[in-house]
Amino acid sequence: MRDGIEMAAMPELREACGAFGVYAPGEDVARLAFFGIFALQHRGQESAGIAVADGQGVACHKGMGLATQVFGESELRALRGHIAIGHNRYSTTGSSLPCNAQPIVVQTAKGTLALGHNGNLVNADELDAVVRHAGIIPTSSTDSELIAHLAAMEWDQCDTVEEAVLRVMPRLRGAYSVTLVTNDKLVAFRDPWGVRPLSIGALNGKHHAVASETCALNVVGAQFVREIEAGEVVVFDGGEPRSHFCSVPAKPAMCMFEFVYFARPDSQIYGKTLHMVRRRMGQQLAGEYPVQADVVIPVPDTGWPAAIGFAEASRIPFGEGLIKNRYIHRTFIQPEQRMRELGVRMKLTPLRETLSGKRVVVVEDTIVRGTTSQQIVRMIREAGAVEVHMRISAPPYAYPCFYGIDTPERRDLLGARMSIEEMRQFLGADTLGFLSLGGLLKAVNLPKDKFCLACFTGQYRIPVPKAMKASKFLLEEAALSRR
Ligand code: SF4
Repeated sequence: MRDGIEMAAMPELREACGAFGVYAPGEDVARLAFFGIFALQHRGQESAGIAVADGQGVACHKGMGLATQVFGESELRALRGHIAIGHNRYSTTGSSLPCNAQPIVVQTAKGTLALGHNGNLVNADELDAVVRHAGIIPTSSTDSELIAHLAAMEWDQCDTVEEAVLRVMPRLRGAYSVTLVTNDKLVAFRDPWGVRPLSIGALNGKHHAVASETCALNVVGAQFVREIEAGEVVVFDGGEPRSHFCSVPAKPAMCMFEFVYFARPDSQIYGKTLHMVRRRMGQQLAGEYPVQADVVIPVPDTGWPAAIGFAEASRIPFGEGLIKNRYIHRTFIQPEQRMRELGVRMKLTPLRETLSGKRVVVVEDTIVRGTTSQQIVRMIREAGAVEVHMRISAPPYAYPCFYGIDTPERRDLLGARMSIEEMRQFLGADTLGFLSLGGLLKAVNLPKDKFCLACFTGQYRIPVPKAMKASKFLLEEAALSRR
């Protein structure tokens, strides 16, 4: 967390990026890409960009901030063509700098190539050495630029850009859902583990769009067709989309946190609408940790579906007890010290009428550092609640993510440092309950082996190099075993 208002205004875990692509001759593709990334804004707020191809070349505009801060009418009107990709970013690899904004644009002997990447590679150091050995000095500090250079280098050696992508994929280890545009093609591809989502939609029956989440397809009027499969490369260049698979066998490991929290509740993954899945998480949680109470309230916005589910299963009335400032976004304005101290109060206000004199169940989707949850419990008590029971619709978050979610070091994760009882005391709640892993899988209703569950279990499905792991595992094992 880099500044005070960010801590107050943003959740404790943040997505890496949102990617969008569209192939639609005759349409205003820059505008479609804008609305695509606007719908994906929750996945990244640091920078936004759009690249458009017109058959002759690729033009790109990108900058720091939200999509609405980077693009106005004049920027969109200047981007003419029939293929576009859009991207918004939150940094996990590389700093928050203009040079790291995407799409990344690379010139090749065969034309321009631009790409937007969602995810994080675990072998970026190795790839960086390959790129530098070829005499290329990266201009950003992102792993995404390495994918672009490797694709450009391979393209010089083969006929088509999709062949180049298929040659590069076996060298990439980690999470990558990518949209790529050349002068005349849109290419979308996903890592063999399928960690981050990527879906195809049909636009006006004859064109296609691709997006990190189906909510962005809905916003541009595209009908969901299917998800791009783990290890699949799909090419859009005017006819029917063509599908290829990389040589690495697919071993699906979708990020469970997309289901718990990251993806929008109106998006679908693995054919499931996330609002309904999260509601079932709340129902399971009510079964696992029942409590006598007067009202169930969500921590807005992401706690809503699970709180509804908890209220349904427990037959405790649902209420709105915390009101969120709907217009709070990431800002580059530094708050003054007194405002910093207000912390979570800049984001949430308790509703005394719901809380006063009540036994309150407050439902949240996850606890990372715990500082926000601690302030929420205090705020509910100050508003007159006589009991505060905290319920979390996922197991304790105890291990850092290396696949594209910005997480603190392990020593800063409450779930790694404390037992459930210690956490309860730290938060100041009367009771505390986390949904079990079994309960989570029951709510999702899909086999365990389809998911990455590493932040709950420490079992990393894509091996993480020792040095990289050490950077976030400063908590001594001896200290852990004392838990
Ligand atoms: Fe998602 Fe957690 Fe796996 Fe990261 S470690 S990909 S947040 S499930």
